[in-house]
Amino acid sequence: MDGHETDLVVIGGGIAGVSVAYELAAHARVVLLEAEHDMPVHATARSAATYIPGHGSAPFRALIAASGPRFAALPDELGTPPLLSPRPVLHVATDDAGAAALTAMLAEQRGEPGAPVALDPAEAHRRAPVLRDPPRAAAWTAGAADVDTAALHDGYRRGLRARGGTVLRGARVVSLARDGSGWVATTAAGHVVRAGAVVDAAGAWTDEVAALAGVPRIGLVPYRRTIAACPVADPSVLRVDGAPLPLIADAAECWYLKPEADTVLVSPADESPQPPGDARPDELDVALALDRVGAATTLGLRSVRTAWAGLRTFAPDRAPVLGERPGHPGFHVVAGQGGSGIESAPALAALAAAVILGRPAPDDVGSALARS
Ligand SMILES: Cc1cc2nc3c(=O)[nH]c(=O)nc-3n(C[C@H](O)[C@H](O)[C@H](O)COP(=O)(O)OP(=O)(O)OC[C@H]3O[C@@H](n4cnc5c(N)ncnc54)[C@H](O)[C@@H]3O)c2cc1C
Repeated sequence: MDGHETDLVVIGGGIAGVSVAYELAAHARVVLLEAEHDMPVHATARSAATYIPGHGSAPFRALIAASGPRFAALPDELGTPPLLSPRPVLHVATDDAGAAALTAMLAEQRGEPGAPVALDPAEAHRRAPVLRDPPRAAAWTAGAADVDTAALHDGYRRGLRARGGTVLRGARVVSLARDGSGWVATTAAGHVVRAGAVVDAAGAWTDEVAALAGVPRIGLVPYRRTIAACPVADPSVLRVDGAPLPLIADAAECWYLKPEADTVLVSPADESPQPPGDARPDELDVALALDRVGAATTLGLRSVRTAWAGLRTFAPDRAPVLGERPGHPGFHVVAGQGGSGIESAPALAALAAAVILGRPAPDDVGSALARS
């Protein structure tokens, strides 16, 4: 038996777990338990690694906006390399459905920080000559970026340790029980952690972990999303006027592509519900991505270097789920990050830690949420 006493036990070592554990460790003793021997291996290791202002539901858009300055400050705080590198997003509509979706997106986000702006279709084609034709309509998100997810996760993990936190890997929680006024978490490997409170940040498994503690399910649904990395015959097409080609996203959410080194990452923007687990790419989804990107561009993608899938886990209203579960004192969740868990992590972690510790929300995050 490996015994630990702590103020807070955080369950899950993806970006949610490490970032909130780091923020909590400024004020409390923290032990983080991760089921896998390596971390991260699940959603956090499988994302498209993009930071896109204006992405997702209104609370996420506010958290993404508040995360921008925090991403800029984190390299000094955590000793990481720069975490964002510019990669604007070109939103393209190729049919009626896409044009309607684009119009609705622009209207909904008008006036929000970093919101996309309408772009003339001919100019859109000039900025992305790989498009087969000028789109019907287009928009541009100038402040989007690629995220160095590995550096972000590693920075938070090292920062947590530097603040005195403990990280235990290969530590799958198999039982969670009340222990006086606190909790005791037991892992399959024999760790026993006594804690004043629990933070369930187990991504797709959040409801399973809650069930271990007898806490009612939130109704989170994990949806599989697939990405294929395809070599590009002529990588010079991935630069335009000396700048990197933007990420190109279909406004009707049927596909997107993102250049990465000498490949493009392509996705059919699939959303297939499935139980929590080690998601695998479905051949049909990979074929759909190639077909749709093939129809919209002249990239002529012929082969797939590698493909993967991961789970994007949403609450029914697609807003984040933060804080203590009603009627279950000391049992907190940080969940439902969907497709925005990386880009919103800095602000979401700071907010979640404040909520869990009963402190006021940080000013920047509170005012961003109040504006949303
Ligand atoms: C294909 C794809 C593309 C994406 N693109 C983007 C993007 O461009 N930008 C963006 O911001 N987001 C993106 N996302 C979303 C982002 O990846 C997620 O929102 C984020 O990684 C969720 O982090 P998490 O820590 O909640 O989950 P995870 O990374 O899945 O971590 C949860 C952890 O909990 C652990 N765990 C589970 N059960 C237990 C247990 N009983 N005991 C201990 N540990 C346990 C698991 O092993 C796992 O490591 C994308 C996701 C996918 C799949």
